[in-house]
Amino acid sequence: MEVLKADMEKKNPEVSDILLHMGEHNLPGNAVSPPIFQTSIFCFGSFDEFQQAIADEAHSYIYSRGNNPTVNLCEMKLAALEHAERAKLVSSGVAAISCALLSQLQTGDHCVVVQDSYSWTRYMMLTYLKRFGIDVTFVEGTVIEDFEKAIRPNTKVIYLESPATFTFKLQPLREVAELAKAHHIKTIIDNTWATPIFQNPIDMGIDIVVHSASKYFGGNSDLVGGVIMGSDEDITHIFNTEFMPLGPVPDPMQAWLILRNLRNLEVRMPVHYRNAMGLAEFLESRPEVESVLYPLLPSFPQYELAKKQLRGGSGLFSFRLKTRKLEDVKKFTDSVRYFKRAVSWGGYESLLDPNATAFRPGTEIPDDRISLIRVHAGIENLDLLKDDLASAFDAMKS
Ligand SMILES: *Cc1c(COP(=O)(O)O)cnc(C)c1O
Repeated sequence: MEVLKADMEKKNPEVSDILLHMGEHNLPGNAVSPPIFQTSIFCFGSFDEFQQAIADEAHSYIYSRGNNPTVNLCEMKLAALEHAERAKLVSSGVAAISCALLSQLQTGDHCVVVQDSYSWTRYMMLTYLKRFGIDVTFVEGTVIEDFEKAIRPNTKVIYLESPATFTFKLQPLREVAELAKAHHIKTIIDNTWATPIFQNPIDMGIDIVVHSASKYFGGNSDLVGGVIMGSDEDITHIFNTEFMPLGPVPDPMQAWLILRNLRNLEVRMPVHYRNAMGLAEFLESRPEVESVLYPLLPSFPQYELAKKQLRGGSGLFSFRLKTRKLEDVKKFTDSVRYFKRAVSWGGYESLLDPNATAFRPGTEIPDDRISLIRVHAGIENLDLLKDDLASAFDAMKS
């Protein structure tokens, strides 16, 4: 199974072709499921082969901290799905984010980042990069002017997350990509929310795409992983300068689980979309609810931009109860039967994540956060989910 040498069979193949067949036509023993290459080292037929491989580790099988055929098969499919030349699977979404950032930044550089980005991305920006003398400017990022004002002569990276995952604010991706290109700035986007099923940032001019594979790529809340996609040049650079020395290695079993769960990604995503829309509309109709934040809802402030950039939406959104009493929020979240109370998202199951849990017990919670609740719409029957929320509203008022 010479995955690294398998060419991308067709230009722009169908999603189901990628997920079900790409790279799997000649599996050992005519197996239908790809093997898990549980091996740390690979052997060479001769001194010359050995030497040639060492000279180009990014494109060779030498040692599984670098390449592994099961991992590479997964990468090949993810790259094709995201319309990227190459992908590198890593051990987690945060490893993907930190490797992508560190590959483009050094002391004295400046980075522009959207303020509502993922919490550990913010940590990276606020504390980690500072240690290396890298300046960071946070922007709201909903309009291009935010970026125009923030960039400086030493800006090297614009970091995006569209939509961001508590407030769901979008960035105008084509305009940001154009601005960045004119100033020789690299753009990096976290595309975890939309998945390549609904949004392909590279087609809009973005350079590097990162994902947490722990969400929809894994799809079953049973693994942690991440992936970085981009040009062959950028990903090979990241392979050599961040991935090999820092070592956020994905193991073959994790890659195999992602491969297995990717099979039905195209089938799952429309179900999450339909359930999220159904729940968002249901919540909007309830007297207990102040507002619902879902980019594909016509009431969403950036609905027009969402329609331009997204072909659909995933299962994650948030809403705000009218109440500002923590007791009410507790009663509501404690009264659901099918929704689970948990962080993360992207699995088959529906979840509630009250933003107030992020504040230490007893501390004052800001007014805009106290009754903000994040919902993950799983793939359960929609009526079951609506009934569950309806009875939680009843419990809240009793
Ligand atoms: C979960 C998440 C991450 C981090 O991914 P891990 O796999 O948990 O390391 C990054 N970005 C977004 C938007 C996420 O939801």
